[in-house]
Amino acid sequence: MNRVLVTGGAGFLGSHLCDRLVGRGEDVLCVDNFFTGSKRNVAHLLEHPYFELMRHDVTFPLYVEVDRIFNLACPASPIHYQFDPVQTTKTSVHGAINMLGLAKRVKARILQASTSEVYGDPEVHPQPEGYWGRVNPVGIRSCYDEGKRCAETLFFDYWRQHKLQIKVVRIFNTYGPRMHPDDGRVVSNFICQAITGKDLTIYGDGSQTRSFCYVDDLVDGMMRMMDSRADLTGPVNLGNPGEFTMIELAEKILSLVGGPSKLRFMPLPEDDPRQRRPDISLAGAELDWKPKVALEDGLKETVAYFRRVLAQ
Ligand code: NAD
Ligand code: UDP
Ligand code: UDP
Repeated sequence: MNRVLVTGGAGFLGSHLCDRLVGRGEDVLCVDNFFTGSKRNVAHLLEHPYFELMRHDVTFPLYVEVDRIFNLACPASPIHYQFDPVQTTKTSVHGAINMLGLAKRVKARILQASTSEVYGDPEVHPQPEGYWGRVNPVGIRSCYDEGKRCAETLFFDYWRQHKLQIKVVRIFNTYGPRMHPDDGRVVSNFICQAITGKDLTIYGDGSQTRSFCYVDDLVDGMMRMMDSRADLTGPVNLGNPGEFTMIELAEKILSLVGGPSKLRFMPLPEDDPRQRRPDISLAGAELDWKPKVALEDGLKETVAYFRRVLAQ
């Protein structure tokens, strides 16, 4: 049995990861400051003998004994990471330093939840891992994008300098149950708007694209990466290569939910990437991984979840 630390474990992705780790018999320590996550996401695990929840902010040192670390702590939605941008950079950078320091001391294997945002507004499409990206260093998304880029740098420097076993995954837009209804991300916004009969808010003309991965597929990829051969550092893209415009996504969600909602066009946020689609050939070759859940099926699960949450 591994002692596994999951930072950001009470968030959307982290709580699903905790479920899967506990389910396969690992001894899980979930660390979270509950900025965007909540105890509700892991409440069902609290009675489990091999699950432990600790309130802690990763920008402060943490002394625990573990074998593996999944570092997910960081708000992921633009409205939340822009709420206190200085804290966002601190979480990515100081958080990475502390978790890498911890990994170094206890000789733990450590995985970083990086992001497709490291590619910025890409001119290479789809994005392979070798593409260095096009990121604005001084814009409103920079606290997140540059914080995550610097975290990757730290991971590779600890690997080169201290011979740590590192794993870096670049996660593309992921959705599913336990997204926060007020999270501001496009899938949760559209579904909640459709269920409550409000108009769906399309930013810009809705022709920008994203690729949406269902959470179960993503968590499977993260676990495969953690279990992979010792010298596989990544970065490895994880995401679903199906690519949709925001108009297509809105229409799909409207047809699943029904109701009177229409599309409402609103200003496009600054630095909003035009297009995004992962090249996942590396994950296929190295991890024998590819997503299995079609967008329509994943959306059905997510709609059912939000119907329950919004009815409470
Ligand atoms: P989330 O906001 O639901 O989860 C983040 C968790 O980290 C929350 O529980 C939050 O309370 C916690 N947290 C934030 N700052 C912290 C701090 N200083 N100390 C301790 N805990 C802290 O978001 P998510 O979608 O679950 O994202 C998880 C990770 O995956 C993030 O690192 C994010 O950057 C990355 N990621 C997610 C996506 C996606 O589409 N969901 C895409 C790319 C990358
Ligand atoms: N750290 C931690 N837990 C540990 C070991 C280290 O939080 O178990 C933190 C420590 O506070 C330090 C950071 O990780 O600031 C980086 O540690 P490292 O050993 O790499 O550097 P140093 O301590 O020499 O600054
Ligand atoms: N978006 C939108 N309406 C919303 C929320 C988001 O049209 O209510 C757009 C947003 O401008 C972006 C895309 O949907 O182009 C994905 O946004 P999200 O915040 O989910 O993720 P990210 O921009 O970080 O990929």
